[in-house]
Amino acid sequence: MIIDCHGHYTTSPRQHEAWRTEQVTAHGEGRPAPPRPAIRDDEIRASIVNGQLRLQRERGTDLTIFSPRAAGMGHHLGDATTSEAWASACNELIHRVCSLFPQNFVGVCMLPQTAGVSPRNCIAELERCVLQYGFVGCNLNPDPSGGYWKDPPLGDRYWYPLYEKMVELDVPAMIHVSAACNPAFHTTGSHYLNGDTAAFMQCLTSDLFKNFPTLKFIIPHGGGAVPYHWGRFRGLAQDMKLPPLSDLLLRNVFFDTCVYHLPGQELLTRVIPLENILFASEMIGAVRGIDPETGHPYDDTKRSIEQLPLAPGDKAKLYEGNALRVYGRLSAQLAKQSAR
Ligand SMILES: [Zn+2]
Repeated sequence: MIIDCHGHYTTSPRQHEAWRTEQVTAHGEGRPAPPRPAIRDDEIRASIVNGQLRLQRERGTDLTIFSPRAAGMGHHLGDATTSEAWASACNELIHRVCSLFPQNFVGVCMLPQTAGVSPRNCIAELERCVLQYGFVGCNLNPDPSGGYWKDPPLGDRYWYPLYEKMVELDVPAMIHVSAACNPAFHTTGSHYLNGDTAAFMQCLTSDLFKNFPTLKFIIPHGGGAVPYHWGRFRGLAQDMKLPPLSDLLLRNVFFDTCVYHLPGQELLTRVIPLENILFASEMIGAVRGIDPETGHPYDDTKRSIEQLPLAPGDKAKLYEGNALRVYGRLSAQLAKQSAR
């Protein structure tokens, strides 16, 4: 089985995102949000059949671990109440996709985060999504302020109540920022990759995994700058008298393959142990064009992985085994969904 661990519902029916705009406007004007729009099953079906499902079939992948649109999370907009209502609406829609296409999609939730509000506030929604919807993970935004980095780093005890619940539920987090509202940062070109790199260093300089030995993070977009600068990170850890990165972080931190060219994939798989890499494409995401150098879509990451000199056992880990290990609830959820 080929599991794509990083997909967002970027093709959701128009009225869903339109409601978000109305909700944020109403909040700004001190009015209550309008009622949520009706979305019919056939609208959801059409958005998937002509979108992510079509690409799964064309590219030969089997399952997408699917979450709400990341740039749309917008944790810097509104307040804790608007974030709760928006997260709930987005997660419900993911649940409906997974119910309509149980063989092809398993859910991951966004969290109702707000800058300056305790992550404890996210526990109820996480629990609801995992226990009621059968979701297998969450997306955790390390910077809910949208590019101003106002909250404590991920190693801080500020985040611990959420980590305790993640460990209890056996769900990992993909560390994923949302849109940047700081004009210095381009959302997907700089803020995303900065977020990935910053999150890794926050983990490196903390006791996080000593205190939570079973907590798991997936750092997306190939780990930002991390694999490329692996020597720097190893050297920094050594100077700080920390254990080697394999002992310090690699039982807990994993990287995906959302790197949109072959040389990047080659570097990723040479530098990072295969046990720590999960296949992903983030298709119909940040980069939707065709690479004129190859004639193929940039986000068809499977195509470049197929060109890597990987042993069949290693390829199986990257496509399936590692995801089943990192997402502790995935096997059971798949069994449940395929019985439908
Ligand atoms: Zn993403």
